[in-house]
Amino acid sequence: STESTLSKEELTPTDEKGFKGHDMLAPFTAGWQSTDFHPLVIEKSEGCYVYDNNGKKYLDSLAGLWCTALGGSEQRLVAAATTQLSILPFYHSFWNRTTKPSLDLAKELLDTFTARKMGKVFFTNSGSEANDSQVKLVWYYNNALGRPDKKKIIARNKSYHGSTLIAASLSGLPALHQKFDLPVPFVLHTECPHYWRFHLPGETEEEFSTRLANNLENLILKEGPETIAAFIAEPVMGAGGVIPPPATYFDKIQDVVKKYDILFIADEVICAFGRLGTMFGCDKYNIKPDLVSIAKALSSAYMPIGAVLVSPEIAEVINSQSDKLGSFSHGFTYSGHPVACAVALEAIKIYKERNIVEQVQKISPRFQDGVKAFSNSPIIGEIRGTGLILGTEFTDNKSPTDFFPPEWGVGVYFGAECEKRGMLVRVAGDNIMMSPPFIISPQEIDQLISIYGEALRATEKRVAELKSL
Ligand code: PMP
Repeated sequence: STESTLSKEELTPTDEKGFKGHDMLAPFTAGWQSTDFHPLVIEKSEGCYVYDNNGKKYLDSLAGLWCTALGGSEQRLVAAATTQLSILPFYHSFWNRTTKPSLDLAKELLDTFTARKMGKVFFTNSGSEANDSQVKLVWYYNNALGRPDKKKIIARNKSYHGSTLIAASLSGLPALHQKFDLPVPFVLHTECPHYWRFHLPGETEEEFSTRLANNLENLILKEGPETIAAFIAEPVMGAGGVIPPPATYFDKIQDVVKKYDILFIADEVICAFGRLGTMFGCDKYNIKPDLVSIAKALSSAYMPIGAVLVSPEIAEVINSQSDKLGSFSHGFTYSGHPVACAVALEAIKIYKERNIVEQVQKISPRFQDGVKAFSNSPIIGEIRGTGLILGTEFTDNKSPTDFFPPEWGVGVYFGAECEKRGMLVRVAGDNIMMSPPFIISPQEIDQLISIYGEALRATEKRVAELKSL
């Protein structure tokens, strides 16, 4: 996404005072951007909007990083944090010592997740830590069952599961692997379930799902089922370009993994708490997972927190090990941080009180239909999404395989045109992603669509110019 026909000056505003670069080794940022150019500094938020340090207002169409579900000025979350800070800013959860907010949140999460009954909750600080913890849990479980060879994890191409060593390995995005010696050898990748891009001529969605499930089974048989421990999937793929599953996909995949005694890890870090118009992605696609990762909307991002939900069966095996392998020796200083847990408890209370799932169901057609109305643009290959998550992919000739030359920077150009008009979107190559706060109003959706449309027309013009050169 750093390749562009725009000059660096056009891409990044220069500071009038002559400021050049900054001192952060900035995440997912090109070295030249952070070294030579001023960052976009966000100073304040208000509902679905953020303001930069020049006072310019932007509609935050990605809700931060798919996470500020209740927007940027929910005073009940502020109050929950400050109250907890004044009572007990910190105590840990090691050695069976803990705090009330963490106990209450664990119980609340087990009550809230109803796609199947879960047994225990392990707290982390992020989605990456949740997914790393998943792999350790799965290994611990298989060691406890006397299956030391059952350790490989199957993830999917184009998935995003985080950026720590194991989470980046699970992720199916080459940029997370190249230059980092990843993925680690026990992680395998199977196909991305993107029907538009990968279906064969004449193949229906159901047939495509059957083929992917068969290929997954073949991979398992080739590796040996006794070596495969778990399969991990996002209900709707997020950072890989917003890819909802094709019809019957998860039914067929679950049949395969069940057949070979492979655990199913649902990475709900983006999907949980209403994003898809259901409380969890598992509810929408009838997924019965053994393990679930959550983060982001768990606290509406007001405090860093993630969690792993563990099935009763796995929890029981882990519990049974205490006199054989000693304690469950895994955890973080801030596992179950009381302030983060207090904020998460309040966020979930708000989701339930305000029927946030119904709210998303009600508002999302305006968002989905409004943006999808631009599908006939000659530079758009596909617009896809569900609930309050949408991806736009720019390709030529409406084809899934005619990519624009990367040096044209079509996606970057569109993103810059949105930014100019007061909206922040996520750009990844020629993919644009949006996942606004759950509280977005009809008027704000209309504004989002209007800016999207204007930026699209400007980008179409740019592409036409580049083609005529
Ligand atoms: N899983 C998914 C599906 C995600 O989208 C993300 C973050 N975008 C993560 C895991 C990693 O979460 P974190 O950045 O909090 O480590």
